[in-house]
This record gives sequence, structure tokens and C-alpha cells, in this order.
Amino acid sequence: MKAIAVTPKEKDTVRLVEMGKPEIKSDRDVLVEVLRVGACGTDREINNGEYGVAPPGYDFLVLGHENLGRVVEVGENVTEFQTGDYVVATVRRPGKSFYDSIGEQDFTTDDEYFERGISRLHGYMAEFYAESADYLIKVPPAIVDIAVLLEPLSIIEKGLKQASDIQERLKIWHPKTAAVLGLGSVGLLASMALRLRGYEVHGFGRDTREGYLNAELIEAIGGTYDSTAEITVPDSVQKYGEYDLIFECTGYSPIVFDAMQALNQNGVLVLSSVTGGDRKIDAVPADKINQQFVLGNRVMFGTVNANREHFEMGVKDLALCEAMYAGWLGRMLTHKVEGLENFEKVFEILNNAGEHKAIKTYFEVGTV
Ligand code: BGC
Repeated sequence: MKAIAVTPKEKDTVRLVEMGKPEIKSDRDVLVEVLRVGACGTDREINNGEYGVAPPGYDFLVLGHENLGRVVEVGENVTEFQTGDYVVATVRRPGKSFYDSIGEQDFTTDDEYFERGISRLHGYMAEFYAESADYLIKVPPAIVDIAVLLEPLSIIEKGLKQASDIQERLKIWHPKTAAVLGLGSVGLLASMALRLRGYEVHGFGRDTREGYLNAELIEAIGGTYDSTAEITVPDSVQKYGEYDLIFECTGYSPIVFDAMQALNQNGVLVLSSVTGGDRKIDAVPADKINQQFVLGNRVMFGTVNANREHFEMGVKDLALCEAMYAGWLGRMLTHKVEGLENFEKVFEILNNAGEHKAIKTYFEVGTV
């Protein structure tokens, strides 16, 4: 079968490879035909040689972690899936730490972690994959058209779940306003999930408002858009007040220090950008930020990856979003590329997403 691979830690090595078709090896395994695979900043970073690890015994890594497929064969002991079911697979698999052993591998304390398409395990940019039923999420046929967004949404779901778990420290927390920093696909999904929870949502991006589809999309679900070229996040507080929750997903770490200055008392700042670079900044008002955090009982935390429960929350939010804002999620699927052999096109769009006005670029591998 065809697959798309890179040589990790080397720049621009993405290529088509030929591999054996995977097989069911245990009675809990499921064989899945890949229908769609999304491409994101993580894939771009891996192809830039900044991130990613090949599986043991291989000098290449099959990419792809945002996936949608259809079950073609199930092991004897699989009762929850049947041939023809639509599924999305989770990304991380258990390693050695205690959290891994209790099924919470998204909280692993291992330095070496196992993620399909990213770290030590081949991914889903292939025609088929085999996986244990334990790591598959069933997708209702009604949302199959937008289900390639489930994996990126699971990251948001985990972040929001952690935020509300952390805020149980307060006897009562009724958050009203949220800021979302970065309005790429992750930021738009975060804005959507926050709108579904009743927040007033203020989105920020670098682009100017004029002709920016991402701004149009946040406004279409009742949020606002501001360009950080025109107003800084701390200054936006004059307009909107301090934010009860801020979700950072720009990929640009200096903005974290801006966000820290725009958080309400008792507020929570969620960090989700995996910044692989080596950026340093000066002139951070450290005393002021620290004092505000202390005197206002503010919280900041990082969040990565997602577990089964977060994917399941995501399925519900995709369905609710379709019910409330019909067609909105489909507008995020801006760039479809047919066939794995056209990988160069996918990476060209990923590398020039601004020019292409791309929100979500994905491979159509099979017919949905
Ligand atoms: C993926 C996560 C993964 C993270 C770090 C993200 O792009 O969506 O599943 O944990 O990268 O590797």
C-alpha cells in the first residue's frame, strides 16, 4: 500500500513510500481503510526536521495523526465495531509511566512517548491501518463529513476539561468571557467549543479583518475578531474586560506573556502550542505579571494530546455544532487534496497557508 513518510530530524524529506498492507494480529484488532487525513502544523514541523521520531527499526516515519476511516475487518473479540463503521483513532499509546498504566497516557511522565504519525509509531497517511479497538472512536454517520476535525477538536476538549477541573478549586465559577489567541483550525475549534458552552468569545489573529475567512467564521457563531497588528491582547481589555478564560493556540510563545496580563481574577490561561523553536524575548514586565497572578489567584497550565473521553466529548460537540450552526464546520475544510500521491500539494499548502487562505488541508484517500 501507499503511505507518506519522512526521515525525522532532516528537512524536507516528505515522500511516497510503498509498504505491506497491515493485518489484524490480535482478536481485539480492527483493520481500517483510511478515508481522510488532515495535515497540520505538527506535520509541517516534522517535515522541517524540528520534531518527530521514527519507530524503532525504521529510518522513516509514516506521517498523519488527524484521521477518519472505515472498518473493513474486525478481530474475533471485537464487539463494539462492525464492518462499515466510521472511526477516528486516538494518537498516543501507553508507555511505561504510572499514568500510562491506568489508561491516562495523555498525562504520561515518560520522556519518550508513543504517538501515531509523530513519535515512534507510524501514522495514518496510508491506505490502511490496523489498531486495537481500545483506541478507536465510533463516528455517527450524520457527522462523517466533518469528522476529520475530531482529532484537533479533542485537544481543545482536553484543555477545557482540565480548565474546569482546575477551577473546582473555586466554590463557584461562572466564566463569561473568553479570548482565543490564534484563529487557525485549532483556534476556530476552540472558539466553537467555547460558544457552545455559552462564553462570549473574542478571537485574535495576526491577519487584518478585511477578507479574512477565519474572522468571518468566528463572527458567524457570535464571536468577535481583532488583529493583533491593530490592538494588543492586554489593550483589548479596555474593550472587552478581562478574560475569565484564555486559550492560546498561536504557535508564537511571546504572546503568552501578553495573555498573562489580560486574565481576570481567578481566571485560567490554557497553553496548547507546541513551540519547537528557540525564541527568547526581553522586556517582560515580570514583577507586574507575577504580582497579578499572586494577588488574583490566577492559573496558567499546559495541555497536550487527548484521551478517549476527550474524543467522545468532541463527537458530541461536532454534532451539537452541526445542530446549532449547520454547515459551519464544513466551511473550515477549505483544501481537499485527492490521493496520497499528491502529497507535495498538501505540503505546499501547509507551508504557505496564509497565501492559500487555508484553514484545514486534508487528503481524501478513499470515498466517504
Ligand atoms: C497532536 C497531539 C500530540 C501533539 C504533540 C499534536 O499535533 O494533535 O495528539 O500529542 O501534537 O506531539
